Amino acid sequence: MNNLLKKDPLIEDIANCKEIFWVNARAQVSGVKDDSNDAQDHAAGVDIDAAEARLLRFAPFIAKMFSDAKDGIIESELKEISRMKELLVGGEVKGRLFLKCDSHLPVSGSIKARGGIYEVLKLAEKIAMEEGGLTYDDDYSVLAEPKFKDIFSKYKVAVGSTGNLGLSIGIISATIGFEVTVHMSADARQWKKDMLRAKGAKVVEYPDDYEAAVAQGRKEAAEDPACHFVDDENSLDLFEGYSVAGKRLKKQLDDQGITIDKDHRLYVYLPCGVGGAPGGVAWGIKKYFGENAYCFFAEPTHAPCMVLGLVSGLKNKIAVGDIGIDGKTEADGLAVGRPSALVSEIMDGMLTGCFTVDDEKLYPYLAELKDSEDIFIEPSACAAFEGLKYVCGSLEGFPAPNENSIHIVWATGGNMVPEDEKEAYYKRGCEGR
Ligand SMILES: *Cc1c(COP(=O)(O)O)cnc(C)c1O
Repeated sequence: MNNLLKKDPLIEDIANCKEIFWVNARAQVSGVKDDSNDAQDHAAGVDIDAAEARLLRFAPFIAKMFSDAKDGIIESELKEISRMKELLVGGEVKGRLFLKCDSHLPVSGSIKARGGIYEVLKLAEKIAMEEGGLTYDDDYSVLAEPKFKDIFSKYKVAVGSTGNLGLSIGIISATIGFEVTVHMSADARQWKKDMLRAKGAKVVEYPDDYEAAVAQGRKEAAEDPACHFVDDENSLDLFEGYSVAGKRLKKQLDDQGITIDKDHRLYVYLPCGVGGAPGGVAWGIKKYFGENAYCFFAEPTHAPCMVLGLVSGLKNKIAVGDIGIDGKTEADGLAVGRPSALVSEIMDGMLTGCFTVDDEKLYPYLAELKDSEDIFIEPSACAAFEGLKYVCGSLEGFPAPNENSIHIVWATGGNMVPEDEKEAYYKRGCEGR
């Protein structure tokens, strides 16, 4: 570790929990858009079109089971937040600012409703085809019938989580009829555990961090052939589910008459924990917008696992504890000490940059968004706002935003937070301003 510190003053700042902004010199600006992209898709084993087709097949089932997903498509609004824009970077944000409201995704109220639910649906489809004679042409609402429920009840799903992935996997698995166990780290909020138990999921609590919860879940699942483990640190299915966001975002921008090209660049700010959700979304965005899209990950100063893995080049071979950081943060969804092996590898060659944020800044952002736009998002999701100041002030490494630019802050969670907790967060934000 000492050698690393000596080599890189940035790692010293990271180790001291200072806020940093890092631009990735290894990022290929090459558009991941044309033919070369297919090769990359293949390399990563990800097929966005096939994933979207699968989600469409499941739409009748989702619509039947969840009243908040009327058309059966789990998607969120892309909302321009001009009043919030005026409050950021001294009102000097160049271009238009949008909020991608995954905080309000149907079914589980966080970005995990993309990848997490997708992985469980893919598993259910496979089982239903092998054992229940389901075909692609069927109306998938039949999966709610006792015949299929009986089949699903022989299978188990397990996951390790800081909270929101557990919610998403727990809710969809219990609804399908799988026996589901969620291994929760110490950071997970009590209401998330309560809600899961109420839905019929088994919740196992750990005094340790996220990595330990995942490891225990993986171990228990490995001993049971009927158990599918949703591996947040390595799953390509999760990644694939998240990546569909790129295709959907393209359509949403088209619908608003917005074209992304070299004169209208796209800057996206994504809160990062283990990296799966922001990584999959960034992958999808690069696929559809290529060299005109610039993605940045936001992490807490006390859990900067992705930027540490990328700056040091050690990827998942280094954890924040290795440089003396405690991993403790108010941003419970981002409280991860070691990045995903899969995602750190993929992001190394394409992510534009990363920045870290002090916990104390999260609540003021939360209150400002509530006051200016009447939108509530959870503290973890607020980390993304901090990126605007760096990107708008940056002079090198990527083209600076101008009046034609489009900025998207990816709001990753919040809608399921209980009212009294929302109120407490908001109050804290008002005090911190
Ligand atoms: C899970 C989560 C993230 C980050 O996703 P990872 O896949 O862990 O990187 C960001 N924000 C919220 C609210 C989350 O729950």
